[in-house]
This record gives sequence, structure tokens and C-alpha cells, in this order.
Amino acid sequence: MQCIFCNIINKEQAANIVYENDKFIVFKDIKPLAPTHLLLLPKTHVVSVNHLEEKHKELIGDLFLLAKKIAKEQGVDDGYKLTFHVGRKGGQIVDHLHLHLIGGWK
Ligand code: AMP
Ligand code: ZN
Repeated sequence: MQCIFCNIINKEQAANIVYENDKFIVFKDIKPLAPTHLLLLPKTHVVSVNHLEEKHKELIGDLFLLAKKIAKEQGVDDGYKLTFHVGRKGGQIVDHLHLHLIGGWK
């Protein structure tokens, strides 16, 4: 299975990584829509929100707490957007669950 985001997680492909721990990786979106545009991913391969199961409850909770932490660290916690694209009709291009953190407007 080829997954571009798994390749980044495995360091087989370069990315501008701003944070990493055992469960998550955060890197800059290659085509930023705002001064700050980060992608927050669980390291485990889950395709989309539609593929979340009961066993992912803690993971998805931790993802939101990470978003809050990263927003503060990046100095954008006074206003930002968190977005999941789900499925092709929802604009999802990469089939590895990721949360967009977008902000940094003046
Ligand atoms: P989506 O699946 O709609 O959430 O979009 C995937 C996002 O990943 C887009 O905003 C792309 O610009 C971004 N993206 C795709 N490939 C890379 C990459 N190699 N490094 C960083 N961001 C990427
Ligand atoms: Zn993946």
C-alpha cells in the first residue's frame, strides 16, 4: 500500500515537520492556504473520519488536545480553523486521516 503520509511518517519522504511524538506527527502543508497551515496526523493509518472506530476514541481525543497545544506553540491560538476533509466529495485527496490547522491571519 502506497500512502504518501505514511511515507512521511516513516521518513521515506521529506516534510517540514514541526512536532512529533510516538502517536502523532505535525508538518507544514505543502500548499498553504494561510500564513500557518499545518497537518496533524495520527501515525497509525486510518483513512478518514468515516473509518474511525470505538478503539480510536482516545486517539481522536488526543488529536484535538494536540491541535490546541500546537496552535498555542505556533502563536495562532487567538483564531484558527480545524478542518477534516472526508471523501472525494468532501475534498479529501490524501487517504490518511489528517486535521488541517489553519490560521495566522493578521
Ligand atoms: P486533503 O486530503 O484534501 O485534506 O488534502 C491533503 C493536503 O495535503 C493538501 O492541503 C495538500 O497540499 C497537502 N499535501 C499533499 N502532499 C503533501 C506533502 N508531501 N507535504 C505536505 N503537505 C502535502
Ligand atoms: Zn497512511
